[in-house]
Amino acid sequence: MQRFRVALTQYERPLESVRKTVDLSQGLDHLPPSAKVFIKPNIVFWTRKAQFPKWGVVTTSRVIEDMVVLLKERGVSRITIGEGTVVFDPKDKATAAHAFEYLGYNVLRDRYGVKNVNVFERPFQKLDLGDGIVLKFSTEILESDFVVNIPVLKTHAQAVVSLGIKNIKGMLDVNSRKKCHSADAVKDLDFWIARLADKIPPSFTILDGIYTIERGPGPDGKARRSNILIGSADVLSADMVGAKVLGYEPNQVPHLVHAAKNRNRPMDLSDVEALGAKIEDLASLHAYTFPYNESATLPVPMEKMGIKGLSYPKYDNSLCTYCSGLTGAILTSIAFAWKGEPWSDVEILTGKRMKPTPGKRSVLVGKCLYQVHKKHPDIAEMKVIKTCPPAPEAIITALHDLGVDISPQILLNLETAPGFFMRKYEGKPEFDESFFRIEAH
Ligand code: SF4
Repeated sequence: MQRFRVALTQYERPLESVRKTVDLSQGLDHLPPSAKVFIKPNIVFWTRKAQFPKWGVVTTSRVIEDMVVLLKERGVSRITIGEGTVVFDPKDKATAAHAFEYLGYNVLRDRYGVKNVNVFERPFQKLDLGDGIVLKFSTEILESDFVVNIPVLKTHAQAVVSLGIKNIKGMLDVNSRKKCHSADAVKDLDFWIARLADKIPPSFTILDGIYTIERGPGPDGKARRSNILIGSADVLSADMVGAKVLGYEPNQVPHLVHAAKNRNRPMDLSDVEALGAKIEDLASLHAYTFPYNESATLPVPMEKMGIKGLSYPKYDNSLCTYCSGLTGAILTSIAFAWKGEPWSDVEILTGKRMKPTPGKRSVLVGKCLYQVHKKHPDIAEMKVIKTCPPAPEAIITALHDLGVDISPQILLNLETAPGFFMRKYEGKPEFDESFFRIEAH
């Protein structure tokens, strides 16, 4: 039986810890110097308007630079770093450029001749992954000879974990990303994302767990300094070991179950050779989901506040990036608006699958739900946000019309709001911003 090598190491120092992970996993052993290499970091979120917590959210620049050095040592000269960070305004190219500048990728360009690419400024190409899954991928990754995939070792509120396979979602155009969040409850997000890495060039995955995060993937989660690196030339093996380190058996992660089935692989790691540190010595449970009440109608903290007359059913995995970026802002605005007087039968529905409750006054957030339910006969009163992405102003108006008097402050300042999460990390030196900088000498 073929055995897939996975290296686990503790991050101790620049360059040498990544070198140890690469050497132990033999992940770059067959890479010829002539190869065109594409590095895929994870910059799931960025804003120019606030300093926000990147720990466990964005790949550290430390690991990126160390990988570039190791590639250069192997004589590789054609290296591209590419990412497709979703921003609220599709015409906004400055935010991605700011991320590359801040994270030191331009220093890497000047120091090592690396090319930096915002994939939204380049073409996409349609790929048929089978079983009805057709998506558009960046030609930059498809036309490379080898991919170095460097996601963060993180949890994900919808996908349980977001590791090597899920990181490839950042190579899709925006419409393809929305398609992955399918309205079909069987062929759902997990079914779609399980195939994302199937047709990329040969790759090496290194899970950057210098910082990990609970309730990821964004800055509202709870980061930890974990000092873990996991490397493998086989992305599924890296992800299964990564899931275990985050406290989940691979069979508790639906997209890994699909991916293993598609590849005829066992879920029990019996074909994986884990080298270096022991999985059980590094593993610790990271919660992935936001706690909701038993009826899944309100987050637990809001139920504890005594909120009555309003339900906000728990997000499902049909909710895509733009709408999920609004969820925390809407919920926080509602919590601040609660004055102890029950609201009147308000429900706020999101994603693509939710159904209005007869007799309720329903807010349908986003064009998807609007199109399905615009003629629903049993809704007592309907407020709709018809656009994608949903306009914050329209959400504010809809809630005001139903007597939920939220302050517009948070929803109108979505790009600065993540700055508030910095407070959690104040006075904790282990949360070190320098992991995300590369200084020009
Ligand atoms: S409205 Fe929301 S759920 Fe629908 S496609 Fe847009 S972001 Fe996704």
